[in-house]
Amino acid sequence: MIGTTHPQQTIKELARQFPTGIIARALTLATKAHAGQKRKTGEPYLIHPTAVAQTLVDWNLDEPTIAAGILHDTVEDTATTLADLEKEFGGEVANLVNGITKIGKIKYRNRNQAQAENLRKLILAVSDDIRVVFIKLADRLHNMRTLAALPPQKQKRIAAETDEIYAPLAYRLGMQQVAGELQDLAFPYLHPEEDRQLKKIIPKQYGERLEYLEKMVKPKVEDILAKNLIQEAVISFRAKRYSSIYKKLIHAQHMDIKKINDLVAVRIIVKSVADCYAALGVIHEHFPPLPGRIKDYIAMPKPNGYRSLHTTVIGPQEQIIEFQIRTQEMHEENETGIAAHWLYKQKKAPAGGTSPQKNEQMKKELAWVQQLRAWQEREMEHKPAEEVIQTMKIDFFQDRIFAITPAGDVVDLPAESTPVDFAYRIHTQLGNTCTAAKVNGVFVPLDHTLHSGDMVEILTQKNKLPSPDWLDFAKSPSTREHIKAAIRQKPSLLHAAVAKKTEFRVVVQNRIGLLKDLAAAIARSHVNISEITATNATRDNFPIIKIVCEVNDRTKIEKLIIKIKTIKEVKEVIWKII
Ligand code: MN
Repeated sequence: MIGTTHPQQTIKELARQFPTGIIARALTLATKAHAGQKRKTGEPYLIHPTAVAQTLVDWNLDEPTIAAGILHDTVEDTATTLADLEKEFGGEVANLVNGITKIGKIKYRNRNQAQAENLRKLILAVSDDIRVVFIKLADRLHNMRTLAALPPQKQKRIAAETDEIYAPLAYRLGMQQVAGELQDLAFPYLHPEEDRQLKKIIPKQYGERLEYLEKMVKPKVEDILAKNLIQEAVISFRAKRYSSIYKKLIHAQHMDIKKINDLVAVRIIVKSVADCYAALGVIHEHFPPLPGRIKDYIAMPKPNGYRSLHTTVIGPQEQIIEFQIRTQEMHEENETGIAAHWLYKQKKAPAGGTSPQKNEQMKKELAWVQQLRAWQEREMEHKPAEEVIQTMKIDFFQDRIFAITPAGDVVDLPAESTPVDFAYRIHTQLGNTCTAAKVNGVFVPLDHTLHSGDMVEILTQKNKLPSPDWLDFAKSPSTREHIKAAIRQKPSLLHAAVAKKTEFRVVVQNRIGLLKDLAAAIARSHVNISEITATNATRDNFPIIKIVCEVNDRTKIEKLIIKIKTIKEVKEVIWKII
């Protein structure tokens, strides 16, 4: 575990493991980029990205992910740009770092269910590559391990974000070990008083429990397994985490720690699935099982992929004992979840056949999609049917995007939404008075299409009213309702628009189909025609067609004139705003 090794050691160790290749080059770049920067702990900044990278090494992830782990803070915190990374390491690594940078903009300030859910979705939506989430989790793990150095206010916010966003995310990806550690790290910051209490009582309880299991249970279980030819079984004890003891205590057990049966569970690792069931049978022969407490997560894995047999039995001295029985492979997958799975799939991708790279990519995506689906199914277990449909729509991200406010709040919008939709989603007044928008710091037109992870800033003008033109591009039905409501309240808005029309006088050599061609050209420019008539007036004996359009923007008018002029038999175009 990297938290316990000396920080400087991590850098050396990483350099030793990867003397050449992209990881070595990433180390060189990060060393230069972060030179002189210090962490809040006073240590050189480089300690942080290398600790993150070491965690990714421990999770057996691939080289681009480890390199991106080393570089993950360079774009946000140093002069290095994404273009620099792309040039030096290629698109794959640059893309991973970009994902992390986007997630870094999100701030979790409003602690409520909806905001938490949105934030998790945004994280997944901007992480089109699951490896971004792995890097983010490794990043958060190291930040939590060194949280003591931050001011108390920040500690609380980050601990809450970890407990409510990142730990559940890790859990949903089947990364139990990470999820549990994140929760335990957050616990003392969120519940300092309870943490002190638990630290007083738990060690004694643990001690007593372990002694009982070691002396009264382990020898007996070893004996009965051996007699039943279940060979090479490894028996160990799993202590329940403080954070989950706390949750259990407040939820069910009236703060009585003696009533927690699984404070320490007995874990048996056997060689095969058949041995799992054999071991379960043998244990039940010797210790009566509690009814309704046998769980077969091998036949029916948990949605996050967790596999194991669980049973609770009455042990020696009438004490209640929980057993968890599994194979080594299941055990490893239970601990690292999709990270283990992801690599496993990748290695198994066949070398021949279609392009191996493509094949590999497909397998990665498959695992990712399956994981999302599993998560989704879990979410749905507790929801009524209409809500399920609604969530399905949102959760497969195909028709939703997640943009961010300058304060770091997440805003959930339909796909292809515009800054106007964004403004109305935040507040009706913001929508009504919106005059301009910046996306990721750059001015954009109000009909600009937003993407997940975009940071959107709305500029307003006091007393401004929405423009009826917005109805042409506003995406969300509720935005359109707001605009229409504003127009209903102030019909002069429409008149204002009507008042600013442009009259074109088009001098033509008349021919069949000319009016139709003119109308079509104008419609293609998305300009509404109020009137189109052949007049009796002429110019140099050529007839004049009068067209009134709902347009008053000079550039648009000029573009329109160019279009009209390309139509066959059009001689001249005269215009004025009316
Ligand atoms: Mn970081």
